[in-house]
Amino acid sequence: MTKIYWTDTQAARLKVLGLDAGVLAHGFHSPAQRNRAFQAIEKKQVKALRTELAERLTCRRPTRAFQLAQDLDGLLQTQGFAKVSTPTITTRTSLVKMGIDDTHPLNEQIFWINHTQCLRPMLAPGLYSLMQDFSRLDFRPVRFYEIGSCFRKESDGACHSNEFTMLNLVEMGTPEAERLARLKELAGMVAGTARVKDVRFEQETSAVYGTTLDLVAHPFGLELGSGAMGPHVLDAAWNITDTWVGMGFGMERLLMASANDTSLGRWAKSLSWLDGIPLRI
Ligand code: ATP
Ligand code: MG
Repeated sequence: MTKIYWTDTQAARLKVLGLDAGVLAHGFHSPAQRNRAFQAIEKKQVKALRTELAERLTCRRPTRAFQLAQDLDGLLQTQGFAKVSTPTITTRTSLVKMGIDDTHPLNEQIFWINHTQCLRPMLAPGLYSLMQDFSRLDFRPVRFYEIGSCFRKESDGACHSNEFTMLNLVEMGTPEAERLARLKELAGMVAGTARVKDVRFEQETSAVYGTTLDLVAHPFGLELGSGAMGPHVLDAAWNITDTWVGMGFGMERLLMASANDTSLGRWAKSLSWLDGIPLRI
């Protein structure tokens, strides 16, 4: 006799509840038997998740996302980085100074508010502006960082969110010969603080952008961060002549990698999840 399995709706629901529908599908002899099994599994899991959610709401412990931000604040402030906060709304002019004009592929991903203003797709325009002002100071290195929301229209949902949180750090005045090693050192410290153990670097040399360094998580090859160093082709638009290193990390990607998760949804800003716990229960 042929066995029957979960309906698509049942399998989707089990997945939302954090259960592996594949593992639970032994095959059933009749729809009635399958539906009874589904109801029993769902009821038990909903009860467990409600208990977990109630504990989560009363435990006075920060969510993993807030804890990660706090841990990174601790790390970076110990390493001499000052925390800054730049506007979430940026301008067409500053994107053009970042090389993102009407013909650039990223232009398609911008959320425009009006003809001249948009939600920032990255922290770099704000941080470049600060670099320009800080470059007038007479000490080096100058170190600062921002953790803040960025917005991009994305089509691939598993590792992308339209709204995500970037950590971007900058060190100005790093000796030229030490830039790559320093970038790796800083990226290693961020990965360690985020408890992402299995990482590698992917280094590329681009005629336009010089050396770029990506921090990538094993085993999925998920990009966690992208680094660059100056002197850089974009520096002239901001009147910057200093050497520098900088790297942007996706906070949700760091959380996802540390939880060995295969999708970003549970770690993004959400009305459906709290600290990885589903809310439709
Ligand atoms: P990808 O190639 O994965 O789309 P990217 O190279 O376009 O990323 P960067 O501009 O290098 O992204 O941004 C720095 C970091 O911000 C990325 O390494 C990633 O961790 C994170 N990030 C970028 N876009 C998103 C997004 N839409 N959702 C979540 N995180 C993102
Ligand atoms: Mg990148």
